[in-house]
Amino acid sequence: MGKRTRVEHVYVHVPFCHRICPYCGFYKHQPGKTSYGDFANALLGELRFAHGDCEVVPRTLYFGGGTPSLLPGAVWRDLVTGMGREVDLSGLEEWNLEANPRTFDEARAAIWAESGVTRVSLGVQAFDEGSLGVLGRDHGPADVAEAVRALRGGGIPQVNIDLMFSVPGQRLEDWDLSLRAAMELEPDHISTYNLTYEEDTEFLQRFESGEWTADSDRDAEFFLLADRLLGESGWMHYEVSNFARPGRESLHNRAYWAGADYLGLGPSAVSTVGGDRWRNLPDTARWVQQIQGLGHARLDAERLTDLQLGMERFALLLRTSEGVPMDWVEEDLAENLRSEGLAAVRDGRFVLTIGGMMVADEIAAYLC
Ligand code: SF4
Repeated sequence: MGKRTRVEHVYVHVPFCHRICPYCGFYKHQPGKTSYGDFANALLGELRFAHGDCEVVPRTLYFGGGTPSLLPGAVWRDLVTGMGREVDLSGLEEWNLEANPRTFDEARAAIWAESGVTRVSLGVQAFDEGSLGVLGRDHGPADVAEAVRALRGGGIPQVNIDLMFSVPGQRLEDWDLSLRAAMELEPDHISTYNLTYEEDTEFLQRFESGEWTADSDRDAEFFLLADRLLGESGWMHYEVSNFARPGRESLHNRAYWAGADYLGLGPSAVSTVGGDRWRNLPDTARWVQQIQGLGHARLDAERLTDLQLGMERFALLLRTSEGVPMDWVEEDLAENLRSEGLAAVRDGRFVLTIGGMMVADEIAAYLC
């Protein structure tokens, strides 16, 4: 038998949400027929199967969703204990959990911290009432402040705040307010996402009906404002959508951008291991059933070529402030981008300027 591929980065998809946001394209649903306990047991079964297949030795764990903070404390404890039985968690360097501001208190945050969670990522999106209303969020600025206080009080070492720009009706001054309000709470990390209109969402319908329009100039203004305001306060813009205090970058995301293998657990989660990629069934009840029967619920398995993997890695690294080695880029194309002010050479690497970051995906396509 050949040597098993070692996987050090694990993503766990928790699909439950109390309310469904009208812009959200992730696989999620309200808690319903599947109990949290059955869900957690299926996750353990899936991890067991995967660990038989490859060697799972997590350095980073990322619980995303959905809303992982909805998992009840007792279910959470059993899940964490079970995971520790299946795989060796002693080498974990980062354990991230996504949370919604109104779904937990300090006691719950303390349970997470005791389990080993090092980083909680709060889905905030905005601090102005107008944007929060359009996005269908059920929290306000006071809830976010209380959530950050509870996380700090419960002993969570690092806090991230997710924000969103180019929300329909959002003005530059609203975005300015959100950025300043986020910084005032002194998180370790701030992510700023440009709204995209995702398949099967109410937002896409409203966009396609012509009610809302895209505007790349407006996107650029929002993007540049975030870069300027956070930059002035010492935040490192280390990836197109991510800012960190020095030393507080997300290890999990960095590994993903650098092309590391990752295992995805939970309905709809994607894995890339040893050149194979698959997606899990995006249906919680059927995912549970299939794991009970087969041990896994994998779909759409494909073998990726080295060229495909290399191109993905190139496009992801290009979005980071680290950039790519010079010899990955054709000289004349690199020179064209540099002469247009879209790229530069820093410490012997090819990096995008702030202007280039705004069109990073187009530049990756141009260079590939
Ligand atoms: S944005 Fe977050 S909270 Fe809202 S539906 Fe999507 S996963 Fe759930």
